[in-house]
Amino acid sequence: MDQVFKRTWAEIDVDALEGNYRAIRSFVNNKSKIMCVVKADAYGHGAEFLAAEYQKWGADWLAVSNLEEAVQIRKDGTLLPILVLGYTPTNMVKKLCKYTITQTVMSMDYAVELSRYACKCGTEINVHVKLDTGMNRIGMVYQGFDGEEKVIEDIEKICNLKGLRVEGIFTHFAAADEGINGNVYTKWQFENFNRAINILRKRGIEFPIKHCSNSGGILAHREMNMDMVRAGIILYGLLPSKNCDKVIKLRHAMQLKTVISQVKEVKPFVPVSYGRTFYTDKITKIATVPIGYADGYPRRLSGRAQMIVCGKRVPIIGMICMDQIMLDISDVPCAKPKSIVTVFGRDGNEKITLDELANLNQTINYELACIIGKRVPRVFFRGKKRVGQLNYICPQRI
Ligand SMILES: *Cc1c(COP(=O)(O)O)cnc(C)c1O
Repeated sequence: MDQVFKRTWAEIDVDALEGNYRAIRSFVNNKSKIMCVVKADAYGHGAEFLAAEYQKWGADWLAVSNLEEAVQIRKDGTLLPILVLGYTPTNMVKKLCKYTITQTVMSMDYAVELSRYACKCGTEINVHVKLDTGMNRIGMVYQGFDGEEKVIEDIEKICNLKGLRVEGIFTHFAAADEGINGNVYTKWQFENFNRAINILRKRGIEFPIKHCSNSGGILAHREMNMDMVRAGIILYGLLPSKNCDKVIKLRHAMQLKTVISQVKEVKPFVPVSYGRTFYTDKITKIATVPIGYADGYPRRLSGRAQMIVCGKRVPIIGMICMDQIMLDISDVPCAKPKSIVTVFGRDGNEKITLDELANLNQTINYELACIIGKRVPRVFFRGKKRVGQLNYICPQRI
C-alpha cells in the first residue's frame, strides 16, 4: 500500500458509484432527468472529484445545499447546471450570476429581495420555486389549507418578477423512505404538488422542470419521477432507511481504513483510555489506531463498535479519543504495527457497514457518511488502480 495512506483514509470505489448511477438511470423513466445530489461533499465521498464523474456519466443536474458548495464545484470545472437547495443570502446574487448557479426560492419575500438585488446588479438569475407540500421545512406552503389561493397568486407574481428566470418548481417528501407506512402521506404530498401545478397551468404558467423525488421517492414511486429526480444517498450505494425495498442493485462506495500505530500487551485489571471506563480482565494485546472522533468516528461508539484486522472483527476498548482508539487484538496474532485496519468496509470475509455503525450510534447512515472529517483524505479507485485523491487539509501531496 502506498505511503500516502499511512494514517487514516477513505477509499472510494468509483466503479461502484458508476454502477449505482447507471442502475438509477435505467430504473428511472427515460424522459426524466437525473439530478445528482453532491451536498455535504457528496455525502462525504468527495464532491470535487465526483461532480466531474457524474458529468461524464451523463448526469443532467447537480444539487448542493449552499452557495459555497456550488461555487467550489463550478470552479472545479463542472459545466452542469447546479441547484442550491437551501438558503443563500440575497446580497450574494452576484456570485449566483457569476458562476451560473440556480437558486431555490422558498418565499415571496425572498423572491422579491432576490429580484431587487438582481435588478440592481443588472443581472438575471435562474430559480426553482420550492413548494412545501407537507415536509414543513422550507418552501411556500401548499397543503390544502384555507387561503392558499394567495400562494398561487404569489407564485404567479414571482414568475413575473424582473431579474428572475423561473426554470423549475419542486417539493420535497417527508415520508418517501418509510416503506408502506409512508405511502399515503407521500401520495398526499404529490397530489398537493400536482394541484398547484395544474392551477398554475390554467393561469398560463408552465414550469419547464417539475421535480419531487428524493432517493426514497425514486425507489418507491416511479410514477412520481416527473421531469427530474434528485438522487442522493442511493448514488453512494446506501438505502435511505431499512424500510426501503432494494429494487435497484446498489454497491457501497466508501470504505474507511486506518493502520495500527502500536501494539502492546497489558496486564489484567488495568484501565484503558480516558475515564478508566474499561478494565482488562486478562492479559490483553492492545492495538492503537490513529483515528478518533475528530476524524468523524463518533465517541458514542466507545465500547460498542468493532473494526476488522486480518479479516477478523476486534472490539474497541475504552473511550474513543479525539485522535486515537484502542482495540483488543488478543485473538488476532497476525495484527502488528502497520497492519491495515478496516473501520467500515470489507476485509476478507468480514464486513462492517455504515448501517451497522449507524444503528449502534442511534443515527442514520447519512450522518455517519457526511461527518467523516476533513483530515481524512479521500482516495479514488477503479478496481485496484488509484485514479484520484482529495486532501483537504494539506492539498499538496506529502
Ligand atoms: C438532500 C436532499 C435530497 C436527496 O435526498 P436523499 O434522501 O439523499 O436522496 C433531495 N432533495 C432535497 C431538497 C434534499 O435536501
